Amino acid sequence: MILGSPCRYVESPNQDERPDGEEPTLLVVHSISLPPGEYGGDAIEQLFSNRLDPRAHPYFREIAGLKVSAHFLVRRDGGLVQFVPVGRRAWHAGASRWRGRERCNDYSLGVELEGLEGGPFEPAQYRSLERLVRALRAALPLRQIAAHSDVAPGRKGDPGAGFAWRRVLAALSQH
Ligand SMILES: [Zn+2]
Repeated sequence: MILGSPCRYVESPNQDERPDGEEPTLLVVHSISLPPGEYGGDAIEQLFSNRLDPRAHPYFREIAGLKVSAHFLVRRDGGLVQFVPVGRRAWHAGASRWRGRERCNDYSLGVELEGLEGGPFEPAQYRSLERLVRALRAALPLRQIAAHSDVAPGRKGDPGAGFAWRRVLAALSQH
């Protein structure tokens, strides 16, 4: 499934098949900004499509070779970009475990919020994320939501304390 307007689609090569019959039941929330703390550029899209120029910023040298992706990115203005169809596996959680089950990429959707780990997010991002969660809930057996820091504790800290869980939990619980 690819969501319609206003979602832009940028294909990421960093995806593959989910295990047989697996449907996404978990939403993993991340934060990212490239370079860290700078918003609005296209470096995130470049990273997820393996086009990030390691010479463009010192930080990019550390990450330019990563093969990573997420299903969705929510920009600071609420704009939505999709990189991987929800029926396929995006490479966002890495080594991970949620409620005793490992390899969260197998059964989750990854959503990146443009922002700094621990920092605040924009009202437009919550509105966009709530709309997204409702649309996904209508089409998929999505039941749970977790932070990347929840599924990879000690290794990952995003999205951090600035993320207002109650706003998204309310959207997830509506039927
Ligand atoms: Zn993350």
